[in-house]
Amino acid sequence: MAALSHIRGLEDGTSEIRGVVLSSSANEKIVDGLRRGIGALFAGDREEHFVATPVISRRTSERAGYPTTFPQLLGAVHGSQDGDEPTATDLVLTSAACHHLYPLLAGKVLGAPTCLSVEATCYRGEKTYETGRLRSFRMYEVVRFGQAGAVEQWRDRALRSADQWLSGLGLSTRVVQASDPFFGRTGDFLARTQREQQLKWEITAELTEDLSQAIASANYHKEYFGEAFEITNTDGSETHSACLAFGLDRITLALRHAHGVDTSDWPLAVRANLAL
Ligand code: ATP
Ligand code: ZN
Repeated sequence: MAALSHIRGLEDGTSEIRGVVLSSSANEKIVDGLRRGIGALFAGDREEHFVATPVISRRTSERAGYPTTFPQLLGAVHGSQDGDEPTATDLVLTSAACHHLYPLLAGKVLGAPTCLSVEATCYRGEKTYETGRLRSFRMYEVVRFGQAGAVEQWRDRALRSADQWLSGLGLSTRVVQASDPFFGRTGDFLARTQREQQLKWEITAELTEDLSQAIASANYHKEYFGEAFEITNTDGSETHSACLAFGLDRITLALRHAHGVDTSDWPLAVRANLAL
């Protein structure tokens, strides 16, 4: 592929634009294998899968609390329909895939536990650009709604099975407790609470010899989104929710780091698992 050697992308971690990469068809085969693998993991509980746009309504993002919690990461769409100076539109860039699911259930009473999944290209205005920290990346999320205890148990089970699947792909994973990097003094408080209540866990893996990143994260939101989107259980209580988010581009980078750039050299079991 000498003629295309000027095109760089996810494979070699470099790009003309920092944090924005181009994905080759060899890369997309891996991503497709990951999609199938995640689908198979959750085939038992998942009722429906969605593919979302890279943009979302500003109102939904606000209702999810993203612009106030992570103002530094949010990207917005500006435009001008009549050719004047561009101004903010009613759209922002998708920050987390699961945000697309909450409006679907807004105002509803859930008669039974509900499990949905969604993939979206997300944008985050990251400050640094180490390997795997992209500004535009694919996130595949599985989200479970229901009663408090059942949702927390699902999060624990989902995290365990995701970890087993990822280590089965030859990745040396670690499951670690985490907190979101909230802003400022209230942020410190929120991060501490999140850690104390063990709401967020990450599955990490090596992306380079001296860099590990979260390749998947599991969050128990408690009643946060139920309250924000007025989703209730039949007994009138607010629905609890949890999500398990897979970073498709980061998993791909971790696989390439573990097994090499050329997928034809990868261990047979891994190739079979991803249908490569
Ligand atoms: P990090 O701690 O690395 O900033 P995060 O805790 O903000 O990640 P989540 O919001 O939980 O991540 O996002 C879910 C998943 O999406 C992460 O586990 C990761 O695999 C992926 N992800 C998050 N941010 C990025 C990014 N900037 N580039 C590529 N993948 C990302
Ligand atoms: Zn989520």
